[in-house]
Amino acid sequence: MYDFAVVGVGPAGARFARRAAAAGHDVVALEKGEIGTPLACSGHVSTDIWEYVPDAAESELRQNRVRGARFHVGGPGSRSYPFYKREAVSNVIDRVELDRTLAECAREAGADVREGHTVTGIEERDDRVVLEVSVAGRDGDDGGTATGATGSVGTETIEARMVAGCDGPVSRVRRSLGMPEPGETLHGVLAFDDAPDDGDFVDVHLTAPRFFAWRIPRGDAGVEYGLAAPPGEDVTELFDALTDAYDVETDRFCSGAIPIGPPDTVTSDRAFLIGDAAAQTKPFTGGGILYGMTAADVAADRIDPAEPATLADYEAGWRAELATEIRLGKLIRACYSLPEPVQRVGLRALSGEIGVHMDRPSSFFSRKQLRRLLS
Ligand SMILES: Cc1cc2nc3c(=O)[nH]c(=O)nc-3n(C[C@H](O)[C@H](O)[C@H](O)COP(=O)(O)OP(=O)(O)OC[C@H]3O[C@@H](n4cnc5c(N)ncnc54)[C@H](O)[C@@H]3O)c2cc1C
Repeated sequence: MYDFAVVGVGPAGARFARRAAAAGHDVVALEKGEIGTPLACSGHVSTDIWEYVPDAAESELRQNRVRGARFHVGGPGSRSYPFYKREAVSNVIDRVELDRTLAECAREAGADVREGHTVTGIEERDDRVVLEVSVAGRDGDDGGTATGATGSVGTETIEARMVAGCDGPVSRVRRSLGMPEPGETLHGVLAFDDAPDDGDFVDVHLTAPRFFAWRIPRGDAGVEYGLAAPPGEDVTELFDALTDAYDVETDRFCSGAIPIGPPDTVTSDRAFLIGDAAAQTKPFTGGGILYGMTAADVAADRIDPAEPATLADYEAGWRAELATEIRLGKLIRACYSLPEPVQRVGLRALSGEIGVHMDRPSSFFSRKQLRRLLS
């Protein structure tokens, strides 16, 4: 029996698998498809990302450096309100390669990382969890039974002391175990124009209902256009309006869910959620890569697979790290829905050089930032 079965090998699952394996636990990590695919993410992250990957990977993963954002109340061509630093505040990275790099780190730490393994059912028992897993055959592979697993070709049963649900916004672990859903799920879309652009500002248009549309320069990888909006909005129509206004043709259209607002609990008897499965995202950007990995570290530090009572330590620990930032991020997002004249006044008053960290809305209230605003 494994100590931990990790369902989903995105950033949260890979990070937890790496840290738990490095701590000496026996870890299996199951990914339903090929790690990193399909892409549904901009990979726009604060420079904190480099604390999570080997130094050698940095130049491979980085596509562009960004030092600010131009906010617009309207579309392209409308007045812009720049927020910036003198140095890079964020990086645009190759998200597919990020996932592969993080999964490789988990393997090197000793985790048994398997692709083509879809978890289809989970049962919590008194002393273990039992996972039903559907295994995709590879060419020339007649299946087989993996170490620590029983079952026939095509399906396996895997047992572990605990299960980590790192399986994204539409989490099978969360739903199978009847754990509560996130507060809200937005629909995000993006696509690319191949023209290289190494500009160091992203553009943010407050034109999508209750969220925003964006343009991200990705260096030689081109330019990304995207937006997110609540359910019921026609995101394709909004996306066409955005790219028409920019007068660009895009391809490689991607689409994904963005959970906002963590539920009251993300743990049960022998299961815990990390990352998008737990809605550990920034409400004002939808970004979840760094919050998910932050929570993964808390889980690896606090949870003892032999002691279910330690799940409460994880629940308290990740909220201590992220709950205030998420609450403040929700307030920032509320400003996206203010009347346009109020938005213009606010943006004009606040724009300029900033001292804030893009993952920490609390830095907006730092002494340094408040001094700048008052001056
Ligand atoms: C349009 C869009 C743009 C975004 N842009 C950014 C951004 O710029 N910066 C940022 O920080 N965040 C961004 N995000 C959010 C970011 O993608 C997520 O927060 C992040 O991927 C969450 O990581 P995760 O590991 O929790 O989940 P995921 O990355 O979703 O990984 C979950 C993994 O679980 C696997 N899985 C699911 N079900 C099963 C199962 N039953 N069995 C086995 N495996 C399973 C999936 O295949 C997947 O690989 C964006 C999201 C969208 C939709």
